[in-house]
Amino acid sequence: MSDRYGVFGHPVAHSKSPAIHAAFAAQCGHDLSYEAILAPLDGFADSLCAFVAAGGRGANVTVPFKEEACRLATRLTPRAAQAGAVNTLVFDPSGMLGDNTDGAGLLRDLTNNLGCRITGQRLLLLGAGGAARGVVGPLLEARPAALVIANRTAARAADLAERFAGRGPLRACGYPDLAGESFDLVINATSASLGGETPYLPERVFASGSLAYDMMYGRGETPFLLLARAQGAARLADGLGMLVEQAAEAFRFWRGVLPDSAPVLAMLRAVATVPAH
Ligand code: NDP
Repeated sequence: MSDRYGVFGHPVAHSKSPAIHAAFAAQCGHDLSYEAILAPLDGFADSLCAFVAAGGRGANVTVPFKEEACRLATRLTPRAAQAGAVNTLVFDPSGMLGDNTDGAGLLRDLTNNLGCRITGQRLLLLGAGGAARGVVGPLLEARPAALVIANRTAARAADLAERFAGRGPLRACGYPDLAGESFDLVINATSASLGGETPYLPERVFASGSLAYDMMYGRGETPFLLLARAQGAARLADGLGMLVEQAAEAFRFWRGVLPDSAPVLAMLRAVATVPAH
């Protein structure tokens, strides 16, 4: 029987992870299955336990369960413990090992795929949920000049910054506090785009030559990328590259081999440009 994996989320039907992992498995000659599993908002732990009992080998975790997955894991990798959020789990007889591959995925997309420089740059991270938690550590390790975390609920941004106190030039605020500041790289790690919304951003947040990066992806430009274009961002990128890169890192965690992400990203981009009928 094939080794069984899956992604848990709510919603999850839109997930491209099954297609990505099927492509990685074919590329690497591994026999596995991978499915999207809709967990009830109050029933993630039960869904996960049922999957393990049915022979599941590992799982990805997406919105809104990453922090709960961190609490449920019996052991954590150092980067998952630092983030307080888990997007990848592996199951073995001794329990559940939790990892976080979001930060590695984002950094690889920014630097390898988009040629973006982080060192010495001013970075703005919007959001303080599971996705933001996973990327703060790796962004700081790339030695930016400044990293500001802004969130609708400012106290949540402050809690997140507190986790990383002393690790780099980091501070937290609410969106109105950004007035008068500008940044070389603005990363949207909120789920606002899922509802067709965008965080409120004061004028001039996007410096000349800046890159606006939305972790969200889909057909066409997201509300955040439309706003960024209107406010003068020089380059726009969605989160499809991050999705493929974090998946490659999860595949390595489970299967011990890092697949080649480039052909899989190209395949997804080709599908994404097919117009809807
Ligand atoms: P969470 O539910 O953990 O966090 C949601 C965040 O979005 C919070 O900071 C919340 O603010 C903020 N938010 C929600 N709605 C709004 C709004 N209308 N206006 C402003 N802020 C809002 O989600 P995740 O962190 O797990 O995921 C965030 C996004 O990142 C999702 O769109 C997800 O698909 C994407 N993602 C993409 C990845 C990729 O590989 N491309 C990987 C991981 C995530 P508050 O605290 O105030 O509620």
